[in-house]
Amino acid sequence: MSDDDEHENFIQAGELPPLSMPAFQLHTFAIIESFQRGVPGFVSDDYLEAIPAETTLTAAELEMAGVWVRREGGYFVQDDETISMVMGFREKSDANAEKCLTRGYHAPRGDGDWIVCETCHVPLKRPDGKPVGGAHGEAPDYGPQRDDLDAE
Ligand SMILES: [Zn+2]
Repeated sequence: MSDDDEHENFIQAGELPPLSMPAFQLHTFAIIESFQRGVPGFVSDDYLEAIPAETTLTAAELEMAGVWVRREGGYFVQDDETISMVMGFREKSDANAEKCLTRGYHAPRGDGDWIVCETCHVPLKRPDGKPVGGAHGEAPDYGPQRDDLDAE
């Protein structure tokens, strides 16, 4: 994506107001991260400061759009649709991950560069050498990577 495109491209997703690509990405990653931190729907200033990408303007855009509301130490996310979607996804994937852990192994599917567990969908072999699930049903040690937010 060129610099010119970036100012023109807005994303309209669900009930959200139109957002720039960086704002939409930050919004989505921040919601997922908020679950991992045990504070669903709250984006802390610490999290924003830890991201290598520029977040001040992006957070301001989300606040202006009424999607994020300023609170002590961070932002409260007003997007029940995405939050409940992430919650549902996490509950389902937690249940699937539990099946693999209880069984003690993943169920490999595929051949070639990518092997994925049929039950919990974690990669068991990746062509890029990134983290994969363990032999005894463990999930790989990964989540939204901070690098992903940095890529522009
Ligand atoms: Zn599995």
